[in-house]
Amino acid sequence: MKLIMLGAPGAGKGTQAAILSQRLGVPTISTGNMLRSAAKAGTPVGLKAKAYMDAGKLVPDEVIIDIVAQRLAQPDCANGFILDGVPRTIAQAEALEQAGVRFDTVLSLEISDEEIEARMEGRRFCHKCGATYHVDNAPSRVPGVCDQCGGQLEQRDDDKPETVKHRLEVYHQETEPLKDFYAQRGILCPVENQPSIEATTQVVLDALKL
Ligand code: AMP
Repeated sequence: MKLIMLGAPGAGKGTQAAILSQRLGVPTISTGNMLRSAAKAGTPVGLKAKAYMDAGKLVPDEVIIDIVAQRLAQPDCANGFILDGVPRTIAQAEALEQAGVRFDTVLSLEISDEEIEARMEGRRFCHKCGATYHVDNAPSRVPGVCDQCGGQLEQRDDDKPETVKHRLEVYHQETEPLKDFYAQRGILCPVENQPSIEATTQVVLDALKL
């Protein structure tokens, strides 16, 4: 299964990708997580990316294309993968196509901007392993502590309200055109966000006939 999770920042791509990843036994490739790890480790790519990320801007296509190509070449991707947060521009989608990467389905999580803005406020991530939580919808067992690795939970710099507004504008301008791109290829599968994570998972599984 080769899958793309498409959707606005905060739509729940990462959450649904993690559930699908377990169920299908294929890795999730999140460019956001990869860039955050690189930034934390202080690598040249990470340092370059951090300025864009903190401002809610997209990291340049060539940086993304490079890290995704390297990641897809790893052996654990041989039986499939879930792309979370990539491609985010037509140029990235074309680069993947040119590299011979083909997808079975592009799941587009549909949700309103208003709902996203309300939701981002409560989002938290583990600074150690990248696991994601939400203070209301998906809290950790111990507040502020990661269930998986015991790391400390933090709010992402780019989840602050002004940055969120900007990221939504970037999404509509740069990423939403990918819906037409993949609809033309007959693999776009829109899924409406539901009131709970579990209910959204159910419509995702139905859409994938799982
Ligand atoms: P995410 O965790 O997917 O919301 O990504 C966080 C930030 O990382 C984005 O706001 C961008 O600055 C950067 N980023 C992640 N993936 C991409 C991508 N495919 N193209 C460009 N920038 C990206």
